[in-house]
Amino acid sequence: MSEPIEDTIRKLALQNAVNFKGKANPKAIAGKILGSHPELRGDVAGLNETIGGIVADVNAMAPEAQRKELEETAPEMLVKEKKVRTYELPDLENAEKGKTVMRIAPGPSGPLHIGHTRVSVLNDEYTKRYGGKLILRFEDTNPEKIDPDAYDTIPEDLDWLGVRIDRSYIQSDRFELYYKVTKQLIEQGHAYVCTCDAEKWRSLKEQKTACPCRDLPVNEQLERYDKLMEGAPGFEDAIAVVKTDIAHPNPAIRDFVALRAVDTPHPRTGDKYRLYPMMNLSVAVDDHEMGMTHVIRGKDHLNNTLRQKYIFDYFGWKQPEYIHYGLVHIPDTVLKTSLIKESIRKGEYTGWDDVRTGTVRALARRGIRPEAIRRYWVESGIKSVDINFSWDGLYSMNRDIIDPISSRYFFVRDPVRYDIEGAQEIKGKAPLLPDDPSKGFREYDLKSPFTVFITEKDSAEFSKDKKIRLKDLCNLDYSTPAKFAGNDVSGVRGGKMKAVQWVSRSSVPARSS
Ligand code: GLU
Repeated sequence: MSEPIEDTIRKLALQNAVNFKGKANPKAIAGKILGSHPELRGDVAGLNETIGGIVADVNAMAPEAQRKELEETAPEMLVKEKKVRTYELPDLENAEKGKTVMRIAPGPSGPLHIGHTRVSVLNDEYTKRYGGKLILRFEDTNPEKIDPDAYDTIPEDLDWLGVRIDRSYIQSDRFELYYKVTKQLIEQGHAYVCTCDAEKWRSLKEQKTACPCRDLPVNEQLERYDKLMEGAPGFEDAIAVVKTDIAHPNPAIRDFVALRAVDTPHPRTGDKYRLYPMMNLSVAVDDHEMGMTHVIRGKDHLNNTLRQKYIFDYFGWKQPEYIHYGLVHIPDTVLKTSLIKESIRKGEYTGWDDVRTGTVRALARRGIRPEAIRRYWVESGIKSVDINFSWDGLYSMNRDIIDPISSRYFFVRDPVRYDIEGAQEIKGKAPLLPDDPSKGFREYDLKSPFTVFITEKDSAEFSKDKKIRLKDLCNLDYSTPAKFAGNDVSGVRGGKMKAVQWVSRSSVPARSS
């Protein structure tokens, strides 16, 4: 049987009064009652009268009395209702269910860090929303920036984040394709082989001027291409260049390098290849070949998007939809993988999961849940404004997730020792989860001679108040050694005694359910 309506009204009035400085608002209560009891709409006047009487009664009470009564009759109502806000990413333009293909394209320079998690989570959210495919593409076309372990650690990190990858590719498996496309561009007159001094080539571009190589006829370019591939004399440092608009108003868009020679051996292919694609070539080719429908990338790639458009247009390929999100500034943490790697090598960091770094591994080790990281990025959205990452924001989301599932234990910073006398035995018990005793208890059974530690701050108050309660265990009177003073908690309730966290050498709690 449900409780009499007067009781419900009284609890709501008490709750409203507790939340609003001791004064309940009858209108707020009427709204709630009518919402949960639509049958009372027939007699709103009568209901308002009842509410008015009860509210007057409650508002006449002292705030402590209001709180106390609510605590006794409906303790669950003391917890402030949290507004549940839901954040949703906007839909993607032209996304068709089941046909969306997206990608995460990290350079394998080390495991992922918090910065990488943004693009990973956003892509995963969308491919899941549209039932699409998510591709992981290792962009390992710079042998100087590769950590060979990253081919394994990155998928592990993505897995931990809950990102579902459908297929993986490694760009160093695809060099022949990049060569083929470059050759086709040359055949079409859209690319050239340049043997100019790099500085000279760049400064001519700045003046909107073609270098002497740019306008050589196609058949000659093709011969030069073969020499470039071989590294023939005079072509050791030559490059293949994609033509754009040499007079483009944005100098960054004028002609870009497609292939260049690299001497450093590649961790996967050794010295098999002399020429390495630059990202604008390999990314454009792969985004097309892999059927990308949508590309999420940072605003720092805006110029790259414009450069890559030339390749798409030369071949008549359809460009993906691009979404450029704003940059994110992540304060107070080491993210640069090369620096982390160096510090690990020097023994300054313990490894990739050193908690002083911002790697996904370090976050996992610190107890950050992947769901919190996901929520953080979903709530940050995908707008083009730059944002500052807030560690406190992430921690607070993490707390929401772990709070209902984390067992409680005590922690004592700056410990001060107290020996205890006057007890035969000291035993205590506390629920692991205060809101859910079914999850079990931690049980304390201190071994004699009894010794506990409390914080320096609590110890100072203990010496002043002359008594203290060790939470879930017992009370102590101040003396040296401290005196066991029973287990009566009324002093704490009456505000006369402080209850503090404590630890004891012999109190590593046993778990019981
Ligand atoms: N490897 C590049 C990066 O992570 C690719 C990004 C892109 O092309 O959108 O910045």
